[in-house]
Amino acid sequence: MYINGEWVKTQREFRVTNPATGEAIGMVSDGDKSQAILAINAAHTAFSSWSTASAYMRAEVLQRAYDLMIERKPMLADLMTREQGKPLKAALNEVQYAADFLRWFSEEAKRVYGETIPSARADQRFIVRYQPLGVVAAITPWNYPISMITRKVAPALAAGCTIVLKPAEATPLCAIAVFNILHEAGVPAGVANLVTTSEPVPIGDEFCTNIKIKKLTFTGSTAVGKKLAQDAAPQLKRVSMELGGHAPFIVFDDADPLHAAKGASLVKFLNTGQACISPNRIFVQRAILDSFVQTFTERVVKMKAGNGLDPSVSIGPLVNSAAVEKVSCQVEDALKKGAILHSGGKALSGDAYASGNFYAPTVLSNVSEDMLIYREETFGPVAAIIPFDAYDDVIEMANNTHYGLAAYVYTQNLSRAVRAFEALNFGIIGINDINPTSAAAPFGGMNESGLGREGAREGLGEYLETKLGGFSV
Ligand code: NAP
Repeated sequence: MYINGEWVKTQREFRVTNPATGEAIGMVSDGDKSQAILAINAAHTAFSSWSTASAYMRAEVLQRAYDLMIERKPMLADLMTREQGKPLKAALNEVQYAADFLRWFSEEAKRVYGETIPSARADQRFIVRYQPLGVVAAITPWNYPISMITRKVAPALAAGCTIVLKPAEATPLCAIAVFNILHEAGVPAGVANLVTTSEPVPIGDEFCTNIKIKKLTFTGSTAVGKKLAQDAAPQLKRVSMELGGHAPFIVFDDADPLHAAKGASLVKFLNTGQACISPNRIFVQRAILDSFVQTFTERVVKMKAGNGLDPSVSIGPLVNSAAVEKVSCQVEDALKKGAILHSGGKALSGDAYASGNFYAPTVLSNVSEDMLIYREETFGPVAAIIPFDAYDDVIEMANNTHYGLAAYVYTQNLSRAVRAFEALNFGIIGINDINPTSAAAPFGGMNESGLGREGAREGLGEYLETKLGGFSV
């Protein structure tokens, strides 16, 4: 753990395993509430000097962290593949995305401008300034184990906040590698702190109830996010919640079917389907359904599952055996209720898969509303294809979810694209585009997919408090 500028070890440790091989790849300190309190106190003490340091100084530290992350990209990607499982090429992309937040917010740190507002009184002046909130507590998931950290740490530090982070139990080594970079980049003692643990509940409780914490920023499941938001409510702590999704991917009959099938297969199986913006329901207009399913399936059967260090692999393991179980259960339920299986449909066994958590890339069509997969976040390599007839029907079906994170629309008709963009109740919409994300663009969900945005100007605003001065002159 990294507390008050020093690396700290506990006697109790937990094991980190490679999800592709089941091998132990490290032992990590198993922190508890007492270490969380030490970290919060350190962040509280460091706040007065960090929040009043010049924005230029904070920007320089973040820029150095960016440079170090880029320098270490191959090492970080290799670690990520071994700890989290995604193929090496995807891990390299994630490290670049993670580093982009450091650079973007290093630049934005210098642009926290205030405002003057004209008053109705000639003898009055209004001045608005934005100041850092204070100590931030952050909790991150395992599926994007580096970028989900920098997406919080970079804006918090740019704004002048200090931070205590608890990473996911499955991926603490990536978090340690990020904090090594922050340390070497010159982040002062206490400004950024890392508490690793195998027991998140007591630390989450401390984050929600400790009076020194002014904001909780969480990325993870909707169920845990709701619980944390409730626990933080009695003190009216600020919260940002980046939660689950159930993305619709809509293919209209005027779309280029090859482009659409290629896009859908790439984004669906990204990170083995373990992404919050992964399409969970692929709606295809009936006139092009057969050709879409055929092209899509042809692409999927060519995907090779295995250890992500093998360059020919595009489907890594699932995070654990429970994830394999959940996916199997959704597929069995769908098949029982009339879905058609085009490929996959089973956990992978045999020598190459014996110790890992592998599920075959799977294509189901004829998926309907009564199936679990239609509503539950899948978080696995299963594509669920659903036919539709008319524009109004598909917009209603797509919006019929309590989630609201990402949606995708494929069409060559401009007015249909604009109307769908406006009608879909989702925070991020890709129009003929499967990667509508960037450090410069606001990321976040509507409804039960979350509160607040990360990245972009909005992402910095999440760590700032608005202060108004009324001056009688
Ligand atoms: P999770 O079970 O909610 O865990 C997320 C983090 O919360 C982990 O660090 C976890 O620690 C911690 N945690 C779990 N229970 C807690 C509690 N009671 N108190 C405090 N902390 C607690 O989610 P996950 O399975 O890791 O991640 C997958 C989910 O994240 C999916 O739903 C996905 O859609 C969502 N996600 C959303 C975004 C987004 O930007 N919207 C991005 C990525 C992922 P442990 O690891 O020790 O359990």
